[in-house]
Amino acid sequence: VKNIAILTSGGDAPGMNAAIRSCTLAALHFGHNVYGFLHGFKGLLNNEFTALAEQDVRDIIHYGGTILKSARCPEFLDENKQQLAAENLTKLHIDALIVIGGDGSFCGMLALAEYYKGQLIALPGTIDNDVDGTDHTIGFATAVNTAIDAIDKIRDTADAFERVFVVEVMGRHSGFLALNIGIASGAEQVLTFENFQNPGVELQNIAEHIKLCKEKRGASSYLIVAAENLWPQGVEQLCIDLQAYANITCTPCILGYIQRGGSPVAKDRIMATKMGVAAVNAINADKSMIMIGEISGSINEIKITQAVKHKKQVNGELLMAQNSILDIAELAKINK
Ligand code: ATP
Repeated sequence: VKNIAILTSGGDAPGMNAAIRSCTLAALHFGHNVYGFLHGFKGLLNNEFTALAEQDVRDIIHYGGTILKSARCPEFLDENKQQLAAENLTKLHIDALIVIGGDGSFCGMLALAEYYKGQLIALPGTIDNDVDGTDHTIGFATAVNTAIDAIDKIRDTADAFERVFVVEVMGRHSGFLALNIGIASGAEQVLTFENFQNPGVELQNIAEHIKLCKEKRGASSYLIVAAENLWPQGVEQLCIDLQAYANITCTPCILGYIQRGGSPVAKDRIMATKMGVAAVNAINADKSMIMIGEISGSINEIKITQAVKHKKQVNGELLMAQNSILDIAELAKINK
């Protein structure tokens, strides 16, 4: 029998509850005791925890957010705090800790491993999908769906007024969300980190593309999906720049936090459930310092060090598809 603790850290993601549920139920199934630490790494510092029983997690698979709460914990960068967390875990006789979070949280685990001698297992829970060793992170599929649902509505009003809209989506510093959302919403233009040149070149490209579209289609709606943190000073500034550069009027729209919330879609619920069970299996097999992922539908284990160090690349075929679809000039030639 082991004492297993779970925490969620960093940005919350739909499906984290499904992961908490499956870790807990699988651990109980094998006769372990389960504890949930609250507010991410803060809970480790403050000894904020609760025992988790079947009735605590029975009915949470369909909820967004996380019942264990999440937090950013900048003080965890301090070695004294990492040591304190390890001491607290040891005093409570916690044999294994499962952390559900993004690559920042995994850095926290690596730091903790310097002082904590129990098992450490990571589950990738972030809407950004920027974690190596897994095709998708828990929450990504739901965030894409939430965004396209919102953008479909924006398209309706953009169509009615034949307007240009720039929609900013999340993704920190990677383009998984922007590219997938852009493709799924049929956006005319997607601005991602992966194919962004510089603001001057991009401004010219966007303006030319909007004008080409207008020539070819007549007045119509035009949607740009842009990754956050990409355009200097944000998408409002991009609209100002387009007006100044080419007299193009466009409306900015920042989707913001709605992308993080909501009931998880089936894919996130199922993947999180599989990963949670795999985490407990790994603990039973005395493994440590690994992240559980899913590649081509099968469970995949990688070292946490690799998940942190290696930057996952956006699928090249997706980028190619997007570039081909957007190149109206080339399409016009083919049509002739
Ligand atoms: P998301 O990308 O979805 O927001 P994340 O896990 O990457 O998730 P971060 O805010 O980057 O989110 O990290 C979560 C927490 O992990 C931080 O608040 C901090 O407590 C801890 N952490 C991050 N980097 C380190 C580090 N280098 N050393 C120790 N702890 C860290």
